[in-house]
Amino acid sequence: ETTPAPNFIRNQVREEIEGGQVTKIVTRFPPEPNGFLHIGHAKSICLNFGLAEQMGGDCHLRFDDTNPAKEEQAYIDAIKEDVSWLGFEWAGPVRFASDYFDQLYAWAQHLIREGKAYVDDLSPDEIREYRGTLTEPGTPSPYRERNAEENLDLLARMREGEFGESEKVLRAKIDMASPNINLRDPILYRIRHATHHQTGDKWKIYPSYDFTHGQSDALEGVTHSICTLEFEDHRPLYEWFLDNLPVPCKPRQIEFSRLNLNYTLTSKRKLKLLVDQGIVDGWDDPRMPTVSGMRRRGYTPASIRKFCDMIGVTRADGGLVDIAMLTHAIRSDLEDSAPRSMCVLKPLKVVLTNVPEGHEEVYDVPGHPARDDMPVRRVPFTRELYIDRDDFMEEPPKKFFRLAPGKEVRLRNSYVIRCDDVIKDESGEITALHCSVDFDTLGKNPEGRKVKGVIHWVSAVHGVPLEVRLYDNLFLEEQPDKDKDADFLEHLNPESLTVCQAIGEPSLAHATPESRFQFERVGYFCADRHASTPEHLVFNRTVGLKDTWAK
Ligand code: ATP
Ligand code: MG
Ligand code: MG
Repeated sequence: ETTPAPNFIRNQVREEIEGGQVTKIVTRFPPEPNGFLHIGHAKSICLNFGLAEQMGGDCHLRFDDTNPAKEEQAYIDAIKEDVSWLGFEWAGPVRFASDYFDQLYAWAQHLIREGKAYVDDLSPDEIREYRGTLTEPGTPSPYRERNAEENLDLLARMREGEFGESEKVLRAKIDMASPNINLRDPILYRIRHATHHQTGDKWKIYPSYDFTHGQSDALEGVTHSICTLEFEDHRPLYEWFLDNLPVPCKPRQIEFSRLNLNYTLTSKRKLKLLVDQGIVDGWDDPRMPTVSGMRRRGYTPASIRKFCDMIGVTRADGGLVDIAMLTHAIRSDLEDSAPRSMCVLKPLKVVLTNVPEGHEEVYDVPGHPARDDMPVRRVPFTRELYIDRDDFMEEPPKKFFRLAPGKEVRLRNSYVIRCDDVIKDESGEITALHCSVDFDTLGKNPEGRKVKGVIHWVSAVHGVPLEVRLYDNLFLEEQPDKDKDADFLEHLNPESLTVCQAIGEPSLAHATPESRFQFERVGYFCADRHASTPEHLVFNRTVGLKDTWAK
């Protein structure tokens, strides 16, 4: 693997280590278990785990699980699997923000005793109204001056489940006139009568993201709390909690810009909609930009890490990364690592009229043109075979170097053949080609003429049927959710999935789930990890052969 590209966070950490301000860094990746991880999360994973690896530190995996209504154990399991699959190891156990609920509660009581938090009876709508706007200061709640004793009692009763869900909240008492709206008495606790996947029915109140995140970082000894730019405005609040609570250490929040990729979405909420509406075949549908979807599609962990390295880490917001960069990363990985094979997606029967019935020869073909460590493939040649329909044209244009009536083409790794006859059914549909072999062309050029075209083929006797799923972008628009008021589903690509009944060379019969191949002249493919069995082989097209990424 190549050395990772430098970025502003790594440079900063290196300076801190060299300057002696930090001895060992601790980072964390903090997903909320309310969906599967997507390629944007992969960027954050590579950054946080990568930084710890490169700087001799630790990276924690911590579930930010403060919203039980939207969270599930299944998401926790999937996230753990994805992080491991990407090749990263978290330091220590898997952690949960909910591990800290007792401590957070004690800290809420601490703020109340210090006169820095109060129970508010305003409704959610009223709280929003009182909060003011960017141009107008907020208005203090009439409950803001409750005394500590009353606040402690109310909080305890909120915890016991004495009140309904929007009857009361606990708020920090900071500054209702602050130019930063996040400091206008942010909410610390909400009442939620929900069962939590980790803590069960112990709590009827749940801490807010803001009240949880920095303190969890501090409890874990996180030195650098790296998050996306939309949290920049929350940083003063992050620091306010650390300054006003007896925390064991003071982590620092550093923001970077989130990844947006064209022709897809990087929002769990919107991806969940595609799953819930049955538009895709689950979170790991190979068209999804989720880590598990990309895995199923045939992406390698190395290619995703390489992509994350290529896009870099900056604070420049709003950019859209070209998906061609992602496909470039997987293509260059598979170019070197995927064994070759021949597979005909749209089979057209060819009868070689001068090859006797029952005749058979077998070619030993390298598994990979540049690697002699890969097993040799045994490719049988018989009188009847299949070529791809697209490699034949009855009335070819000038520069068509494949097969046409009266024309010659080379069968890859085999002979030159000439098309003598086109066989059609009553409707005029071509059902077969009758061709003849020039037996003097195996491994050498034909006498006295040039044959430019080479096409792939599969023996009709020995070929194995494959279901091949061809994928295209899920959306037709570069930024399907650009218009906030419009429905992004309107931009769905109706042809994002095409299924072919293909025929592959016999070596594919033993393909295990998740094994990857280059189907020569066609693209890179991966045996589906769920659907492919020896009795019914299913391949997903990972990516085509043509690289469209311009540096
Ligand atoms: P979403 O909006 O898709 O739900 P999120 O930020 O709410 O994403 P979290 O589970 O909170 O999802 O994310 C965990 C970490 O991943 C956070 O630190 C978050 O900043 C980071 N992250 C999420 N989306 C992206 C993205 N598109 N690019 C880079 N980092 C991201
Ligand atoms: Mg989040
Ligand atoms: Mg979110």
